[in-house]
Amino acid sequence: MITPIIDDMAIDRLRALINGARHIAITCHKSPDGDALGSTLALCHVLRRLGKDAVVVTPDMAPRALDFIPGVRDLVVFTKHEARARRVLSDAQLIFCLDFNSLHRIDRLGEVIEPLPAPRVLIDHHLNPEDIFDLAISHPELSSTCELVFRLLMQMGLLRYLDRLAASCLYVGLLTDTGGFAYSCDNPEFYEILASVMRRHIDRIGLYNKAMNTFSADSLRLQGYAINEKMQLFPEQGAALIVLDRQELERFNYSKGDTETLVNKPLAIPGIFWSVFMREDPDKIKVSCRSQGDFSVSDICARYFGGGGHQNAAGGDFNGTMEQAVALFHQVLADLFPAADSTEQPQQ
Ligand code: 5GP
Ligand code: MN
Repeated sequence: MITPIIDDMAIDRLRALINGARHIAITCHKSPDGDALGSTLALCHVLRRLGKDAVVVTPDMAPRALDFIPGVRDLVVFTKHEARARRVLSDAQLIFCLDFNSLHRIDRLGEVIEPLPAPRVLIDHHLNPEDIFDLAISHPELSSTCELVFRLLMQMGLLRYLDRLAASCLYVGLLTDTGGFAYSCDNPEFYEILASVMRRHIDRIGLYNKAMNTFSADSLRLQGYAINEKMQLFPEQGAALIVLDRQELERFNYSKGDTETLVNKPLAIPGIFWSVFMREDPDKIKVSCRSQGDFSVSDICARYFGGGGHQNAAGGDFNGTMEQAVALFHQVLADLFPAADSTEQPQQ
């Protein structure tokens, strides 16, 4: 039994909004991941089956590693097709915002969407959503936005429109946002949803291998280098830090997505319960954090790196030099573990 956790009033409101719209735009956060793409594309498939003119508009390109998700080639990418993206959004009578909680997470798309008159519907599982949506369906207790989309379809009585393609999209988000069913999936209902998705005859093994187990040779070499030569351990604070600068990324022909799961790796080491990865992007330092148990990296990212996310998986941006970003990490160590010796040389 899958409990109907979404408020009935929200379901009624959403049904009315969908019934009243023909042109519908769906968007998600920048640097879209498996959950962002899986949830938007699944919703788009279902809305199209309902006869709607639905289009997914992303702030930037999907990583090449995720181009197997059904529908990914039809994305309208703002940084690539700006005029078309603006047209789709201004024609839209309803705008869905999936897998993000604040407009700054969608870059310049935020400025485009903000003044538009179309109602905005948030469907998300991040903590503390901004109060800028006409309807906010926010469930941070859920594994993924894909799980929330499934529950919405179920409660709206639309599961018969969830076909194999849409179910394949949802599977990718359920899989990737839980690190391959490793975390954020303690609710037994998660597996009932997974079973229902699998009943749609998805190619489970094929999708699993593409989503979890496919890396370019460059990416594998970069990860090996990062772990072998760049991983610093701080056993007293249970922490790990990996830093990659532009030069190192270029040496391994870095392309977007190549370091996607790197930040998780140090958590395999007994005693390491939080991990930080800093990558020098052209315009900023991207910070990614992961943790185990009650230790909240979302709080750290919100307080120090202008970001957020979930308790065990969060991120943020740092505007400054890599040295300053690393200094801030040491500040976090000193603030959170005042009794531990943060100045000690980290064990390599
Ligand atoms: P990742 O480390 O994979 O980029 O992100 C992990 C989680 O943190 C994701 O749920 C993502 O949405 C969230 N996140 C990543 N970067 C940011 C950020 O800059 N701001 C906020 N609010 N959340 C972020
Ligand atoms: Mn997500």
